[in-house]
Amino acid sequence: MAVFHLDNAYLSTFGDSFQFSGLRWIGAGSTSTGGLSPVGSDEVSTRITARDGSVVGDVAWKRELPGQELLRRMTWGFGLAAALLLSIALFGVRYFRAQSQRIIDNERREARLARTDFLTGLPNRLALSEVLTSQLASIALSDRCVGVLNIDLDRFKQINDSHGHQAGDKALVAVGARLMAEFPECFVARTGGDEFAMLVPAATADRVGVVADRVAFLLNAPLQINESLNASLGCSTGYAIAPLHGDSEAELMRRADLALYRAKKEARGRAHRFDSDLEAAALRRRAVEVALRRAVSANAIAVAYQPLMASDGETVVGVEALARWHDAELGDIAPGEFIPIAEETGLIVELGEQVLRKSLIDALPWANISVSVNVSAQQIQRVNIVETVERLLREYRFPASRLEIELTESVLVADDARADTQIRGLQKLGVKVALDDFGTGYASLLYLRQFGFDKLKIDRQFVMDSDTSVEARAMVISITSMSRTLGLDVTAEGVENAAQHEFLRIAGCDRLQGYLFSRPITPTQLSAFINDRRAAAA
Ligand code: C2E
Ligand code: CA
Ligand code: CA
Repeated sequence: MAVFHLDNAYLSTFGDSFQFSGLRWIGAGSTSTGGLSPVGSDEVSTRITARDGSVVGDVAWKRELPGQELLRRMTWGFGLAAALLLSIALFGVRYFRAQSQRIIDNERREARLARTDFLTGLPNRLALSEVLTSQLASIALSDRCVGVLNIDLDRFKQINDSHGHQAGDKALVAVGARLMAEFPECFVARTGGDEFAMLVPAATADRVGVVADRVAFLLNAPLQINESLNASLGCSTGYAIAPLHGDSEAELMRRADLALYRAKKEARGRAHRFDSDLEAAALRRRAVEVALRRAVSANAIAVAYQPLMASDGETVVGVEALARWHDAELGDIAPGEFIPIAEETGLIVELGEQVLRKSLIDALPWANISVSVNVSAQQIQRVNIVETVERLLREYRFPASRLEIELTESVLVADDARADTQIRGLQKLGVKVALDDFGTGYASLLYLRQFGFDKLKIDRQFVMDSDTSVEARAMVISITSMSRTLGLDVTAEGVENAAQHEFLRIAGCDRLQGYLFSRPITPTQLSAFINDRRAAAA
């Protein structure tokens, strides 16, 4: 027989074995029979009765389910894992936040760069159009205006060419700085190579005009570019005003561009304001360009010939080939209109070659008569005209000595070294080179002689003015006498009346051209004209 004392020590061991933690006797009292009663906040008790029902006593233990101990043991593990996960999560959040901040910063920097001109640090065209859009929205409810000014530097290329790119860059920076300093209330942007633009907030449209004229004035004044260079860049300025000329960004920019285009053509150093005529002119220009492209590719440009007479006014010594164009829809279009468009679009290269080709074909039977063909500066710049001329002369077996090429002073302005080699190249072929429109440009006769021109054509204006102006007559006389000294052959253009003819003959012009003798005519008419004169002389 064994005896166990059911004392607290036994209960404690029992409790540990069966996971009743803190199992102990408590004084019999509140515990009810057959169930669990709470003792305090964390214990429960139950009554132990003997088989006969007598009360042995109440035992209490910590209120825990058996699994909780297991849980507690696992808590450490869980805690550790949770802490690890938490720190990973925290790290992740911080990492991703930093990363996205970096992306946002990068995007901001890129957005800023995309709106900044790298050389001058000024806003660029994109920034300008965005700011204009927002300014238009803000003036919509007021009676204020915004001027859009387009500024194009006139002599930037010369600075670049003669003083180097560094000086060119400095000039651009100086222009930007001057505009910013003079017009702090305006938004100044660089919109292209040598183009700037300004947004002018103003109370009235007239005020925009005042600012635009001031810009033109300032940029025509000399500007300190670096320590040794103080130069006037000059500018052309065109502007449009919102809401007067439009209320959308695109429309205003386009109209300011049209105004600039006109300002460049007129080249007066004054700002040009948009007006609706410009729109009509631009539409016409576009229509002509489209039709011209078609005509050139269809080889539909015709050539008319105007006789060049000896000073007697009777003998035909040459002809000038002049491009003629009739479009089915637009009608007759004057060379004064389509030649500049051909030059701007590059169509002149093909057009020029077609005129030259037709001239050689038409003139071949006109024995002993020279044919003069106009070649524009663009052709000299864009293609090797010597090669073209040589190829066509060979193709049609046309004697080089009967061909003359007429150039204007603009070829020398564009690139005098290239002009010089092309002129000499043509002369090497045996072709004569004439300087056209003499007197309208700036260069002196002596300077022009250095380029080796063989002939010179006095501009029509002098001939016209010789009727009334003593100065014009004096000019003509000094040009002809100087030309004789330099060995240049002189032609006078635009002879319209007998008095002019008489004066020019006495002044010593070698050849005369004008409506007095004949207008430009078709090849067939010209053949007849030559035969008539030869018959009359015989
Ligand atoms: P240009 O080379 O000075 O040609 C002479 C212009 O004066 C021609 O105008 C001719 O018709 C005009 N003219 C001749 N005699 C008289 C006259 O007595 N009175 C008046 N008022 N005018 C006279 P057109 O044919 O209209 O040509 C205009 C300009 O277009 C030419 O001036 C020339 O610069 C250019 N051009 C014409 N054809 C060609 C071409 O094939 N190639 C190039 N590059 N330019 C051309
Ligand atoms: Ca000419
Ligand atoms: Ca001329």
